[in-house]
Amino acid sequence: MASKTMYKALSDELLALLGPARLVTSGPDLEFYGRDRGQGGWEVRAAMIAFPERVEEIQAIVRACAANDVAIVPSGGRTGLAGAATATRGELVLSLSRMNRVLELDEAARTMRCQAGVTIEQVQTTAAEVGLMYPVDYAAKGSAHIAGSVATNAGGVRVVRYGLTRDWIAGMRVVLASGELLELGGGLVKNNTGYDLRQLFIGSEGTLGVIAEVTVKLCTPPAGTLVALCAVPSDAAVLELFARVRSRGELVISAFECLDHGCIERVLEHRGSDAAPPFAEASPHYVLIEAEVPHSADFEGARERVESELIACLGDAAAAAEIEDAQFASTAAQARALWALREDIGESLHPHHPHKADVALPIGRVAEFTAAWRALVSERMPEIEALCFGHVGDGNLHLNLLCPRGSDHAAFLERCHAYDAELYALVERFAGSVSAEHGIGLLKRDYLHHTRGPEELALMRSIKAAFDPRGLLNPGKIFGG
Ligand SMILES: Cc1cc2nc3c(=O)[nH]c(=O)nc-3n(C[C@H](O)[C@H](O)[C@H](O)COP(=O)(O)OP(=O)(O)OC[C@H]3O[C@@H](n4cnc5c(N)ncnc54)[C@H](O)[C@@H]3O)c2cc1C
Repeated sequence: MASKTMYKALSDELLALLGPARLVTSGPDLEFYGRDRGQGGWEVRAAMIAFPERVEEIQAIVRACAANDVAIVPSGGRTGLAGAATATRGELVLSLSRMNRVLELDEAARTMRCQAGVTIEQVQTTAAEVGLMYPVDYAAKGSAHIAGSVATNAGGVRVVRYGLTRDWIAGMRVVLASGELLELGGGLVKNNTGYDLRQLFIGSEGTLGVIAEVTVKLCTPPAGTLVALCAVPSDAAVLELFARVRSRGELVISAFECLDHGCIERVLEHRGSDAAPPFAEASPHYVLIEAEVPHSADFEGARERVESELIACLGDAAAAAEIEDAQFASTAAQARALWALREDIGESLHPHHPHKADVALPIGRVAEFTAAWRALVSERMPEIEALCFGHVGDGNLHLNLLCPRGSDHAAFLERCHAYDAELYALVERFAGSVSAEHGIGLLKRDYLHHTRGPEELALMRSIKAAFDPRGLLNPGKIFGG
């Protein structure tokens, strides 16, 4: 633990390195940069915030912190939902937000090298300017950094077609706890030379090193997409619909997202009194389906073929009572409006201080699990509104409990904490994961054992010790202690 003298020595050294505009040691910015979007009620205690602009500055900051025994919280867009970018122990917060330049776009290799703080949206728009696509996509893309998304192995809405962030990382440069710089590829498609250390940093939540640069892979975007929203009578029907759509060989599905009726109600409430529901009759669940239009000399013909295939498939689903109603977006604006119903859920629930759980289940057991989860909530907290949405095509559910209006948030969180223990035990019984895509951070470290066995946990701790023997990188995250 650093003494006052050590903090003073560190801030003097960093002031000389960065100047007063790039080192914050007091004021509201300590709280602002000291936390992410995790809803754990943790007290934020950041000692200072440093804003490097070059890799060499990251190295100098890491070395100065090590010399003065001050721990570091690497910080990206602070959109993380597990408290992994929250400083609670007097750490220095190392914000990568000023390292926001795209460094190189190689169209032949289809790769893009970026500084850590380039946002996902910047990556997507830069790729689109040369007709390419970075397919990892989620609602926080305007703020989330590429390095933050690597550190959390972010998923998002198109995993069913394109996979996770892990599948799109060609290389990276990482500053180690010692201050040394590790170069982890980027230019090679094939490189079978022993352990792939790059993979260790993906999902490491800032505990193994500071990612300074990332090289991502890019791909050809589809010629177009078609979007439909379906009203679905039950959890079981959601899965039946998924199996039906997936087995229709001619359809290439790029998203299959589910949302409860309560999610739609909250989105409409957030938009204001004249916002209209998508269907005249409410259904318990909705599914948003996106299908890709392949490249063809005759785009309109290809589009019409995908559209008739999707309509036929949903007609069969209606005949089998898997859906009650459906809407197709026939213009880009209508498609955006349907997507907005899904993407606005996070912001719309925010005023209700939701307790969130992001879990993964074997796809075939999603409906059975959801029924067990609903029974658990109604038994333990019958007055609490429980809402489920998520990337059902990946078995990934976001389970939300809303804090009742006017009730004490701290008391609500305490009750949720007791429920968490039962929830994650339930997830284990269904052979699921306590975190599908948001990571562990501070929020789930007490529940990691439900998904990882003792041997795995011991190996994970040894990996942490090998990279960061003094425990200076994001202490307390993932494992606690
Ligand atoms: C509205 C909303 C929707 C979301 N939807 C999804 C979704 O669909 N799918 C999904 O997977 N996630 C989703 N998320 C959460 C997602 O994990 C984060 O949005 C994002 O991946 C984290 O990036 P960030 O730059 O904000 O990182 P931060 O929150 O700043 O940090 C997250 C972790 O990464 C570490 N980190 C950050 N930068 C670095 C670095 N340079 N080097 C080393 N470690 C670093 C931090 O220490 C921390 O452990 C959503 C979040 C919000 C708010």
